[in-house]
This record gives sequence, C-alpha cells and structure tokens, in this order.
Amino acid sequence: MVHAPDRPPADAPLVRINLYSDTQTRPTRAMREAMLEAEVGDEQFGDDPTVNALCDRMAALMGKEAAVFLPSGTMCNVVAILTHCRPGEEVLAHETAHILSSEGGVHAALAGTQINPLQGSRGMFSADTLRAAIRPRSRYAPPQRLLEVEQTANIGGGAVWPQAELDAVVAVAREQGWSTHMDGARLMNAVVASGIPAAEMTAGFDSVWLDFTKGLGAPLGAVLAGSSDFIGQAWRWKQRLGGSMRQAGICAAGCLHALDHHVDRLAEDHANAKALARGLRQIPGMAVEEPDTNLVFFDPAESGMDAAALVGALRLQGIQISMLGGRIRACTHLDVTAAMVEETLAAIRTIVAKG
Ligand SMILES: *Cc1c(COP(=O)(O)O)cnc(C)c1O
Repeated sequence: MVHAPDRPPADAPLVRINLYSDTQTRPTRAMREAMLEAEVGDEQFGDDPTVNALCDRMAALMGKEAAVFLPSGTMCNVVAILTHCRPGEEVLAHETAHILSSEGGVHAALAGTQINPLQGSRGMFSADTLRAAIRPRSRYAPPQRLLEVEQTANIGGGAVWPQAELDAVVAVAREQGWSTHMDGARLMNAVVASGIPAAEMTAGFDSVWLDFTKGLGAPLGAVLAGSSDFIGQAWRWKQRLGGSMRQAGICAAGCLHALDHHVDRLAEDHANAKALARGLRQIPGMAVEEPDTNLVFFDPAESGMDAAALVGALRLQGIQISMLGGRIRACTHLDVTAAMVEETLAAIRTIVAKG
C-alpha cells in the first residue's frame, strides 16, 4: 500500500506561515514573467536556447565541463548513480542520506546498487569512518564504487561540511579509486553560509547537482554537472527514464531567474533560521540545534510538550511545520519573513505554556 500524505482536517485554517519545507516556495511574479518571456526549442534535440544557457552557466558555476537539465533532484541522484555504478556495486553515504531514506528504493530497484550507511554527527562522517568502511577486495565482498555526500546535509540539520572534512573524505575515495558524487540539493545555501565558491567546494567531485525547487524558489528543475563524457552518458539515462523534455526553457528561465535574484538572499533565510533557533532556546526545556543554514531542528520533549501535539496545535493556527525522525523541522525560505518567525515563536510560547 502506498501512503498519501496526511491531509489536515477539512476545516483546518489556511496555511499562513509555511515552515514545512523550502520546496513549498511559490514562483514570484518576476520569476513567472521571466518564464513567460523565455525563448524555447526542443530540449531533447539540444535545441532549447534557455536550457542550454542554464546548463552552460551551471557547468561554469560548478567548475565542470558540462551539465544536464533534469526535472528533479531525485532524478539527478538516480541518473548520477546509474551512470557511476553497475549492478552489485556499493555506494558509501551517510545513514541519513536522501538517497537512502527518500527516493523510493530506486538505487536498489533501478541501479541495483547497495548503499553502505555511514555514521557521524549532523549528517556528515569523518575520513576515519570512511576508511573503516573500506572492504578488502575479494571475491565475496561487494565492489565499492562511489562516495556520496550531501551539501548541505538535510537530516543533519542543514549542516555545511567544513571544506577540510570534504577534502579528507574525497582523498580516501581517490586513493581507493572510487568515483565521487555530491548531492547539492542546497549547495548554494552552503556557498552563501561559508563564503566558499561553489567550484571550490565541488572540485573533488566527479558529479554534483543543484536543486532549483528548494530555497531558490523555482517551480521545477535541477541541474547535474560533470565531465563531458559523464554528462554524455547521463543523457542516455535521462532518455531511458523518460526525463528528456521539449520546451523546457520555460522552466529553465525560472532557474536562471533564481540564479540572478535568489542566491544572495539565502543569507536572509539563514538569519531567520538563527533568530528562530535563538527564540526557541529561550523556551525552557526546548532542545534546539544551532542551524548553519535554513533548517532548524528542535525537540520540545523536555518542555513537557509532545512534538506531534505541538505540530498539530500550530497547524490549527495556520502554521505548518514538519516532523522528521522524531524531531520537528522548521525550514526558512523565500516565503518566510522575519515577522512570520516572530509570530511562530509567539505561537509556540503560548502553546507550550498552556501545555
Ligand atoms: C530535496 C532533496 C532531494 C530531492 O530533490 P527533489 O527535487 O525533491 O527530487 C535530494 N537530496 C536532498 C538532500 C534533498 O534535500
């Protein structure tokens, strides 16, 4: 049986403040106008000038030779893993990685890979942990093929990998002859938070992608980048998966608009996340993780409040927030203002005080 997402009761108030996910951003009027004006062609033919402009720009931004436009971040991971790995090979990733928890088992179903789940705090792991997972080469051990990291680490609380840690795990992969893949769903959040240019952050990776539907606010699209040879092979998988498109420039125009107008402003989302964390920490018993970027994880258990009950009570006030792995996750983005953060804090204070 497939579960549909839970729907709020029919009489629940409209969502006024949406902290549920940065995927729920709505394209702005200016973005829609850019999409309206887009020059388009047949994307599958390589004939869509706006898609081509986006791919060229993304390849340059990520310091890679080439890039391909795909409908979603999930498809970027699927295409990348299908391109890097053969059936029976192993991918090494953090135990909370999106590829493990949230992609419907596709990497087993379609790529035939197994994922070796690594431990470490905040969605990251050390070079020592990675080294300890190296299997001796033998007839019976699964061949290890690919290192995968998330930047930022989603379930890790939007954590930004320190560059030295990233370099250290890449060095282990290189030494073992593995390929390297970065799930950069929120890569620009990491770039804005750290001040390190994207190309520098991704230099050790054979493939990397960026999602345009998270805090960047586009309705659709993600771009996967790598060597010309890698992207050539990725294109075959895109076609096989039904991911080739036609006048996709309409969507690529939204992504280009996001690159021009929605990257620097991610700093506002980070400031709002920090303000939310600061306010939450003032509530007795609230366990709050310090956010690096736009995701705030907290747990009200010690305040005497059940997490699910708090989420439910907020929803009745038109404030939507999510639960992930037993904790509450609040996500700041384009459609969340500083005033909304204050209003959310006031609502939480009142709910917790009433118990
Ligand atoms: C959202 C997300 C994805 C999937 O991207 P979609 O565009 O939603 O398919 C993959 N990895 C991480 C870390 C994400 O946060």
